[in-house]
Amino acid sequence: MTGYKGLIERYRERLPVADDARIITLGEGSTPLIRLGNIPEAEDRGIELHAKFEGLNPTGSFKDRGMTMAITQAVSEGSQAVLCASTGNTSASAAAYAARAGLDCYVLIPDGKIAMGKLAQAMIHGSMVIQVEGNFDDGMRLVKQIAAEAPITLVNSVNPYRLQGQKTAAFEIVDELGRPPDFHCLPVGNAGNISAYWTGYCEYAGITTAVSNFLHGQCPYQHDAVTDKPPRMLGYQSSGAAPFLRGGFVEEPETVASAIRIGRPQSWDLAWAASRESEGWFDEFDDAEILAVQGLLAASEGIFCEPASAVSVAGALRDIRTGKIPPGSTVVCTLTGHGLKDPDIAMQQGSAVVKKVSADLDAVKQAILGDR
Ligand SMILES: *Cc1c(COP(=O)(O)O)cnc(C)c1O
Repeated sequence: MTGYKGLIERYRERLPVADDARIITLGEGSTPLIRLGNIPEAEDRGIELHAKFEGLNPTGSFKDRGMTMAITQAVSEGSQAVLCASTGNTSASAAAYAARAGLDCYVLIPDGKIAMGKLAQAMIHGSMVIQVEGNFDDGMRLVKQIAAEAPITLVNSVNPYRLQGQKTAAFEIVDELGRPPDFHCLPVGNAGNISAYWTGYCEYAGITTAVSNFLHGQCPYQHDAVTDKPPRMLGYQSSGAAPFLRGGFVEEPETVASAIRIGRPQSWDLAWAASRESEGWFDEFDDAEILAVQGLLAASEGIFCEPASAVSVAGALRDIRTGKIPPGSTVVCTLTGHGLKDPDIAMQQGSAVVKKVSADLDAVKQAILGDR
């Protein structure tokens, strides 16, 4: 590759990568941190609100940060095939990186409810797509059993290399702001990402925590402090799939935000530790609130993210309004995936209407000028 530096090259000294490893990269990471300046709730309170737009990774979601690491490691270990369960984005990312590495890829997706863009990606990259008659949690149980018996590498976020790659998003934010934000808002599904960000922030601050001990215990290396206090980690869920709000697993998770339609988060303990250690909290939003914020970001900031991603901004805005996030704070929300992943949902939004007129000047004039 020329030009783009992937995140392994950029942060290699902070990642567990063998010196002679063949790096499998698509130039992931280095996503823009976009200042959200058009939202009055934040502006009026002097709150500096930013979006880390992870939808601009090579396959359209933050999963690529973990996948460059997981597939690079799989290749180093001599693996011939990788496997994952997925609500969509993990399979899209695994399929792309496996194709690049020349590995076979098997993905288990839930029955129905997978966003069209994500399915298209898994298919075009040549992975074997297996649709199980069940939900994500069923798929997860099955792939763990298969990976325990067969010589196939599991690349879900229970693979520790995934979280190592994902922690680099926190590094990028600190490198760009020059300091950590006061609050970091994330959607929470399997809860790998919130654990990874917390690890990244703590690592940069030279702080050892239960979460970083766990991760670094699996892949040890040296790190030095470069920043001050890490942010409070705020995790947001969809009400129909909110195990962190219920205090226990949810059997039949249901939400429009399919990427976080998960009832049994794999990083349950790590995410609780991240929330506790950072003095953060969890909250929940119903489908209507999530779609409203997806629409708001698209219409007033020019950013098209998928529904699951909008949950982070929904959370930030509610906590700004209630004062839980105090005036003058710096807040970063991660927008985890691109809106084009799920065109059907966008088309169903009330604002997505197409005006049909006849092909003559008056009709088109009337359509445009009659509206002004
Ligand atoms: C995977 C994913 C999430 C959830 O991340 P976890 O690490 O599972 O909590 C959120 N949004 C999008 C778009 C995703 O693809």
